[in-house]
Amino acid sequence: MLRRFARTFIPRQDCYPLQTEDGRYITLQRHFELDYIQAHLKGMLTLGAYALDTRSQARWLCLDADTPEQWTELLKMTRDLEQDGVTAYLEPSRRGGHLWLFFSPTPGARVRQFGQTLLGRYDLAGIELFPKQAELKTGPGSLVRLPLGRHRLTGQRYHFVTPDGDPIAPTVRAQVRLLSSPQLVPPAYIRDVTAEESDRAELPDKPLFPDARPHPPGATLSERLKNAISVYDFVRRYVDLDERATGFCPFHDDQRRSFGVNREQNFWHCWAGCGGGSLIDFWMKWREREGLDASFGATLKALADMLLPR
Ligand SMILES: [Zn+2]
Repeated sequence: MLRRFARTFIPRQDCYPLQTEDGRYITLQRHFELDYIQAHLKGMLTLGAYALDTRSQARWLCLDADTPEQWTELLKMTRDLEQDGVTAYLEPSRRGGHLWLFFSPTPGARVRQFGQTLLGRYDLAGIELFPKQAELKTGPGSLVRLPLGRHRLTGQRYHFVTPDGDPIAPTVRAQVRLLSSPQLVPPAYIRDVTAEESDRAELPDKPLFPDARPHPPGATLSERLKNAISVYDFVRRYVDLDERATGFCPFHDDQRRSFGVNREQNFWHCWAGCGGGSLIDFWMKWREREGLDASFGATLKALADMLLPR
């Protein structure tokens, strides 16, 4: 069990970080031993976990909330991910906490892109994303305190909880067992989320619509949906837009025409804080409003039925 717990969190064996009594970390250039995990769980010493292995691959992503407000957003994210069939693990701390996601070894650059896209969907300015590096250049890179140990400075030990705040298991031992084989994020989900991001990064210079462009070979479902219709043409089926492509936001009680579509850059936005993005983001919010399953997967499927030829 300890071996698998170590495999979940500890990506390299050639060196490891140790927390000092003032809360900082030092790197020990020594071979990692399983006994250290035992000592960590007993509170005799406190280990850190590097985010990347020597090949710059990651097995986890950690979002670090420093404030109660950020923590509330992470709880929301956890519930939304759950709707998509993705399990996030919550480790509260004094004022905020960590949200952990686990996967099979994945390049750090991709993990960061995935994490940043998730963060972009929420009001999470200032939150830290680990791994902090896309790849290692010098040194072992960023680290997070290995869970279930004792913080050297505060003496505190924190357990994992559900979004409602209950422990995920009654004892440290049972929590270790759960984290020895955590639910992994499906690679297809990472692919879909990051494809969404690269679409946004490669917005066309001039409008491609209404003539749909042919799908490049290997296009993901979300790419095909976004190529099927412009955000403007899709959204105006549901929102009354004026000649400047603005209108009343369907997602809040709007008195001031806070909603608009940027036709050149092909995205929608609400200035009152309802967010914005692609037609997929729009339809997720729309389905949420209608009380339908607003998960990423269910929304893609619904859009495919509406927009793609059978
Ligand atoms: Zn709004």
